[in-house]
Amino acid sequence: MTTEFPGPAGTDITGDGFSTRAIHAGQDPEQLTGAVAVPIYQTSTFAQDVAGETRAGYDYTRAGNPTRTALEVALASLEGARFGHAFASGMAASDALLRAVLKPGDHIVIPNDAYGGTFRLIDKIFKPWGIEHTSVPLVDLDAVRAAVRPNTKLIWSETPTNPLLSVSDIAGLAAVAHEAGAKLVVDNTFASPYLQQPLALGADIVLHSTTKYIGGHSDVIGGALITNDQQLSEDFDFHAKSMGGVPGPFDAWLTLRGLKTLAVRMDRHCDNAEAVVELLVGHPRVEKVYYPGLPGHPGHEVAKSQMSRFGGMVSFTVVGGIEEAIKVCSRTRLFLLAESLGGVESLIEHPGVMTHASVAGSDLEVPASLIRLSVGIEDIADLLTDLKDALD
Ligand code: PLP
Repeated sequence: MTTEFPGPAGTDITGDGFSTRAIHAGQDPEQLTGAVAVPIYQTSTFAQDVAGETRAGYDYTRAGNPTRTALEVALASLEGARFGHAFASGMAASDALLRAVLKPGDHIVIPNDAYGGTFRLIDKIFKPWGIEHTSVPLVDLDAVRAAVRPNTKLIWSETPTNPLLSVSDIAGLAAVAHEAGAKLVVDNTFASPYLQQPLALGADIVLHSTTKYIGGHSDVIGGALITNDQQLSEDFDFHAKSMGGVPGPFDAWLTLRGLKTLAVRMDRHCDNAEAVVELLVGHPRVEKVYYPGLPGHPGHEVAKSQMSRFGGMVSFTVVGGIEEAIKVCSRTRLFLLAESLGGVESLIEHPGVMTHASVAGSDLEVPASLIRLSVGIEDIADLLTDLKDALD
């Protein structure tokens, strides 16, 4: 169902602040009982009194479910948008987006350091179906402009990127896309809507893996597409309903539960990441630190202009190559060796053999001694001790 976010003046909103909307948008107390938490409508279907007439617009949960609607309204509100669509995963959202916007013969420009799963979907699934792609450094607007062709329909941006944390200029990319008659999508997973609002900078679509910061507790997989464009919203809805990559009611509820505390978690993620960066920058076993908050980071100025802070993700390379990097990853105790990111617990991983193995040998290959940290919200003294012990 395409459910338009009622906006700050809507009846179910009692304030305009980010956290107020996270806690209240789409989440009025339930009519029947006054339940403060949105109920989990764990039902596949909805009774009708007269054939074809639904009681509240719901007929079948693949097409729409009240718990999912609450999540979609809240997601739209947090991105300052009119329409939100929840999916079963970030990849299901990406798949729906690509099918909704592109047809065989079209072309897409993608970052040369996109998330490996995004690259795999575009290169291994969509290319054989006739969608062409060119990967370029999205940080270089001239390179993006040069990659655009008459059949380019979409520019795909991820900023900051996974795992190299490069930063692209959203307003600049939107201008290039719109000059070419293409749409700009921003994968806003790393920043979250708390730190960055791509639609306000000119993007047409925001994509999230809500599995990460929005869900925030490493207990649910989900994805989202958010837009102000009614036609796109209807297309996303049609694709979600037709292909069925939607979240179940309990997954939607878990995501909604996580989303309420996004602002307080992100503040703490950022505080902790900044302290971790300080430790890494001064450490003799560390070669290079990738963090957009560092003044020497090539995207620092752009990040400062479009993000309110620099996030909880930190990548770095170590002295000693891949063997040493893999050893460091298995020496930490608090930083759990695991894929994914954005949860309350700190994670460490080796992108080359874990999350980004699918891009080995391509333009998107990552440095062999790269380690990626998702800095959690534990006590910072414990996190620093853990990292020091693993590196020393
Ligand atoms: N986008 C980014 C930046 C990601 O890091 C991921 C997963 O790691 C995805 C999209 C895919 O999301 P999901 O794992 O929820 O399908």
